[in-house]
Amino acid sequence: MRLVDMHCHLDLMANGPEVAAEAAEIGLGILNASVAPRDYLATRDAYRDSPTVRCAAGLHPWWIDDGTCSVDDVDLLEQEIARTPFVGEVGLDYGKSHLASASSQRDAFERIVRACAEHPLPGRVLTIHAVRSAGDVLDILEGHGLTHSAACIIHWFSGTSDELARARKAGCLFSVNEFMLGTRRGREYARQIPVERLLLETDLPADRGPGSAEVIAASLERTLATIAELKGIDAEQLGQQVCSHSCELLGLL
Ligand SMILES: [Zn+2]
Repeated sequence: MRLVDMHCHLDLMANGPEVAAEAAEIGLGILNASVAPRDYLATRDAYRDSPTVRCAAGLHPWWIDDGTCSVDDVDLLEQEIARTPFVGEVGLDYGKSHLASASSQRDAFERIVRACAEHPLPGRVLTIHAVRSAGDVLDILEGHGLTHSAACIIHWFSGTSDELARARKAGCLFSVNEFMLGTRRGREYARQIPVERLLLETDLPADRGPGSAEVIAASLERTLATIAELKGIDAEQLGQQVCSHSCELLGLL
């Protein structure tokens, strides 16, 4: 394995299975984050034979906000959490356009995290969306002891520096993408995050068009190069360390 994308949406790409086949050829690992439990069921079957893809069962807060997912979907996700160690994309979004659904988002996230705590599968990994909500996300994760019993990865961290300090202290991991490195604050956070807590991701696709494993790999390479430069360390060495940690988390050889 050469590179691992710890937060990608193959099921939102027009040609996900093609991308998965290409990923295996070029040594690219992918954690496929789903946005709705029914999508997860479909991707789990579609990528069953993809050696470098792991599918996570998720329910994105936007899909709660817009009414696409209901309490039934949370029920379904709870069942899947008992069977798969990989969970995400889950979390909270208190951005202006999603704030109205904050309390139903919180109810769902609380149930999801509780289900993870009640089914402590070995190798549990969560990929978490936290927009203007890192405090509540951490309260819920810590309330169920998940920061100790699971790898809690905050994807594209955008909270305050106090929240970053709290999440680091709690033991969270952070997956960084090119969008995050596009802001001064994001670059400063990437510089501060210790290498052993740092992972790479793309959050692709930006639209629902076709994707490509080469495009994903190139984005991860650029992210890696920028972080190495920010930290003043060797990119190749950083890449190896981050890649082997990611492989360990996903059970990839
Ligand atoms: Zn995402």
